[in-house]
Amino acid sequence: MSIPNDLLNTVLRHASQEVSRKEFLSLAGRGLAASVAVGALAGCQDQGAASTAATTPTTGTPASEVDASTTFTAPGGQQVPSSEAVSPPAKVPAAPDKPIELEAWKSDVDPKSPPTPTPLPPDQRVGYALVGLGHLTLEELLPAFGECKKSKPVALVSGSPEKLAKVAKQYGIKPASCYSYADYDKLKDNPEVQAIYIVLPNSMHAEYTIRGAQAGKHILCEKPMANSVAECEAMIAACNKAGKKLMIAYRIQYEPYNRLVRDMVRDEKFGKVKYLQAQNSQSSANPDHWRHKKALAGGGALPDIGLYCLNTARFLLGTEPTEVFGYSYSSPGNPLFKEVEEMMSWQMRFPGGVVVDSITHYNTHDSRFYRVNAERGWLHLNNGYAYRGQQLQTSHAEGSARMENHITIGAKNQFAAEMDHFSACILENKKPHTPGEEGLQDQRIMEAIYQSARAGRPVKLPAVAGTDVFRGPEPTA
Ligand code: NAD
Repeated sequence: MSIPNDLLNTVLRHASQEVSRKEFLSLAGRGLAASVAVGALAGCQDQGAASTAATTPTTGTPASEVDASTTFTAPGGQQVPSSEAVSPPAKVPAAPDKPIELEAWKSDVDPKSPPTPTPLPPDQRVGYALVGLGHLTLEELLPAFGECKKSKPVALVSGSPEKLAKVAKQYGIKPASCYSYADYDKLKDNPEVQAIYIVLPNSMHAEYTIRGAQAGKHILCEKPMANSVAECEAMIAACNKAGKKLMIAYRIQYEPYNRLVRDMVRDEKFGKVKYLQAQNSQSSANPDHWRHKKALAGGGALPDIGLYCLNTARFLLGTEPTEVFGYSYSSPGNPLFKEVEEMMSWQMRFPGGVVVDSITHYNTHDSRFYRVNAERGWLHLNNGYAYRGQQLQTSHAEGSARMENHITIGAKNQFAAEMDHFSACILENKKPHTPGEEGLQDQRIMEAIYQSARAGRPVKLPAVAGTDVFRGPEPTA
């Protein structure tokens, strides 16, 4: 550790008692001071400086006679003046969901800090079983529980005993709460599990949702909901029959930047929206991965990542498309795209003449953004569909000036927000904001896009009146 010269000089002067206690406290009164002082003094012994001070309490008082409330014992055994610890005024509401309000010190010039978190005590949080220990579970979901306030992982389901043992240790999950796929239905007998989060290949979502609901658990299922409209309908029916909640994990609808854009669109901040351009592309390399097998994935880029363009456009606008026109392509001879499409480009017509133009690709460098073009301005969300790193830019005119703004708001882990929303729905018996019906509507639209791409002409969709018809109430926290 390097010690700044001014602090070192003060420490040395203090050691030779040239500075007052007050001066020492004001400069070095942080918890750090003692170890810095002792470290500095120990270093000085070699140089013959302050050698007596290093072995003598800095106050010059024997340790046994020092008032313990104003001093503490440093690692070297010396008694060192302690800081004056106080609790500044704070509002501490008794209600568990009301945040503690700390003494304010920032001016209005800077952005306000978010309220202090209001986590539920661990024994009151909703317990989740995670099914499938692949990329999403290990890289994003399990870490995100650390930022959850209402959710906790309590069980794991995997085909790999090695992964189960290691991950269970990492996250404090009991060995008895680790299940093989063959034992999946035994989750029924685990009272700690209230919800099952299904993070399996797309073709398995329907079966594991239906069996999970039959086991008496609420279901949070990854997108795409399933591989067909019929599967989606069966999932909704099974959850309804079991009296269990079903939510599709549309994380974007819980992510703060996307929610802000949604509010600006709905409030007509820059007038009415006229068209929207959206792009979600990435590159893949392993033809043996389930994402490249039609039976497991259902399709290629469209259901995997193009779905974000589709679902987010519906979320922003609130209305439903009345017609789609798709065009897909797969490079001949490329083993990655023997079964699933490499690219899908599609347009959707929404009520009022609004057009959404989207492209998704499995064979380009990753690119995930959208731009909402309105009468008097545009909103551009770079990394709009990414796990993190959203960058919001807007443009509008004021007199002769073009105003281009970069808007920064507090980031929030969107997976934690999504899981906590589902937990709140379970705890408060509410319908999820992104229920099964939301996933079913996307599946209907994707099937129409494939149909259009095959036929080479637009496909009409049944008109849906109203806004947010397939969504549940707004998430509250
Ligand atoms: P992955 O391949 O990394 O993990 C899939 C898991 O399923 C693995 O643990 C694998 O062992 C298990 N599995 C069980 N049976 C299998 C089988 N027959 N074939 C292959 N794997 C099998 O996949 P992932 O990226 O974690 O995706 C899982 C799900 O999550 C998919 O539905 C995907 O669309 C979705 N997903 C969502 C997001 C998001 O941002 N919400 C991101 C990535 C993936």
